[in-house]
Amino acid sequence: METILTVSHLTKKFGYLTAVNDLSFTIEKGNVYGILGPNGSGKSTTLGIILNVVNRTSGEFSWFDGSTTTHDALKKVGAIIERPNFYPYMNAIQNLRLVCKIKDVPETKIQEKLELVGLWDRRNSKFKTYSLGMKQRMAIASALLNDPEILILDEPTNGLDPQGIHQIREIIKTIANQGTTILLASHLLDEVEKVCSHVIILRKGENLYSGPVDSMLASHGFFELRSTDLDQL
Ligand code: ADP
Ligand code: MG
Repeated sequence: METILTVSHLTKKFGYLTAVNDLSFTIEKGNVYGILGPNGSGKSTTLGIILNVVNRTSGEFSWFDGSTTTHDALKKVGAIIERPNFYPYMNAIQNLRLVCKIKDVPETKIQEKLELVGLWDRRNSKFKTYSLGMKQRMAIASALLNDPEILILDEPTNGLDPQGIHQIREIIKTIANQGTTILLASHLLDEVEKVCSHVIILRKGENLYSGPVDSMLASHGFFELRSTDLDQL
């Protein structure tokens, strides 16, 4: 097995608040991982740390085989951790051309990725005319332009209508089937069950379970859990 990310004993404190507490997990190539937990459980903080946008208090993380700097390793990581943000008066092609320049990838990738997310037909529409779901799909296309080893998504279906949610989940499954490793944060058990093969369950920054989704559902205590209510964990 090829290891994409190793996290060991990661802790993050904001003053007296421990947002992430002694968290350890490993991401192996080709799997789809969910970080599952209620709001405030430390999901976004964890993603921020491994993406080098949040400083850790203690612990370690290491990308790939650990032979490169985090800065260089992150060039092979695609991430969407904020609301999609592109030039509102430019269309999909114009926006993605800029991203291609920044990432130094050929513009020929644009069609492939817009087709993947179902936006090729809307490529000439201005970004501001897109629905929230389309904006999110555009962000996925953008993040995939350089064919990253892993795609990281923070609450990718938040705020979307049922159809938009379904579309995003299907796209994530397609990307995973093409061999891209996925790590997504979600407060929805439902989402993790539908999309992920593995899960890291957080509660108040503590890791309650890491392992295959199947075993999570079979293991005592998680059976009754459905929908958004993880506060009882
Ligand atoms: P989640 O993504 O699971 O909702 P977060 O990682 O955003 O959780 O937050 C975990 C905890 O850390 C929460 O209690 C949150 O209020 C706190 N927190 C997150 N970011 C900051 C920050 N920049 N300053 C202070 N507290 C923060
Ligand atoms: Mg969050």
